[in-house]
Amino acid sequence: MSSDEYNECNPVSGWDLHCHTVFSDGTKTPAELVDLAYANGLHGVAITDHDTTAGWNDAVKVSRTRHFPLLRGSEVTAQDGHVSVHMLAYQYDPENEGIVDLFRSTREARIDRARRMVSRLSKDFPITWDDVMSQTKKGGETTVGRPHMADALVAAGFYRTRSEAFAGAISSSSKYYIPTPSPSALQVVQVVRQAGGVSVVAHPGDYSRNRILLSNEQIGALADAGLGGLEVWHRGNGTEERERLLGLARELGLLVTGGSDWHGDGKPNRLGENLTADDVVAQIVERGAILLVS
Ligand code: AMP
Ligand code: ZN
Ligand code: FE
Ligand code: FE
Repeated sequence: MSSDEYNECNPVSGWDLHCHTVFSDGTKTPAELVDLAYANGLHGVAITDHDTTAGWNDAVKVSRTRHFPLLRGSEVTAQDGHVSVHMLAYQYDPENEGIVDLFRSTREARIDRARRMVSRLSKDFPITWDDVMSQTKKGGETTVGRPHMADALVAAGFYRTRSEAFAGAISSSSKYYIPTPSPSALQVVQVVRQAGGVSVVAHPGDYSRNRILLSNEQIGALADAGLGGLEVWHRGNGTEERERLLGLARELGLLVTGGSDWHGDGKPNRLGENLTADDVVAQIVERGAILLVS
């Protein structure tokens, strides 16, 4: 199959390259992720918790036991001007100083931001910081975010589900919302490249996350800095956006990936609902600094 062909359509078999676990805001463990990917007949899976590598070792253990292939990655919080950007990063050296520093500062910024949001929320909803922290399944190892605030509001009886809270008080358009101070997307591309990894813009066509998306020029500038790919196959990207992104990928020589953005029971997204072709994964592995686990 030529690279053009596999880039043109959403693959029917392959890998899920976008999955969250209890080490960030997913509800299942890395072991459960690998087991479910195996049971569902995927060719392999990537663990991509927000701004951390803390779940990697647990995922590696099960991947080796099952002889089921695993890519190691993260979803890195970033911004480009006023656009909130998520960058998937794969197969980088987890001990690289630039990466370690980047994750440390974002995780600290996330806690400070979450505390400030909880203090705003607590004026109308009697929840405390401890209520939010008690929703994290790995304590200090968990990357804290709005989902944990949403879960605390559910536990206190204000909403029925996490998604309902995201449509209400937790929404980015609510008066309680505060963005996470983040590194620039350009900085993330550079750090991931220096750490020997491959970076991919996550859900670049998702209008539910941003009123304004990254422009062709912004994506072009990231490509010039060493961006590896675009996550085209994601439920948040509309049809027109997929066309635009495929065109850009062709023009700029970027990989086309797909993933479910699985959060266990925290989101309706089903594991494997969007996939990445085997050939694309092979290129990520070839470019990456660490070995494929299998
Ligand atoms: P934050 O990064 O703290 O602003 O929180 C936003 C994150 O919440 C995004 O990465 C979403 O993927 C995640 N999230 C988890 N569950 C949900 C949900 N049910 N609805 C919307 N976003 C969710
Ligand atoms: Zn998430
Ligand atoms: Fe995301
Ligand atoms: Fe995600």
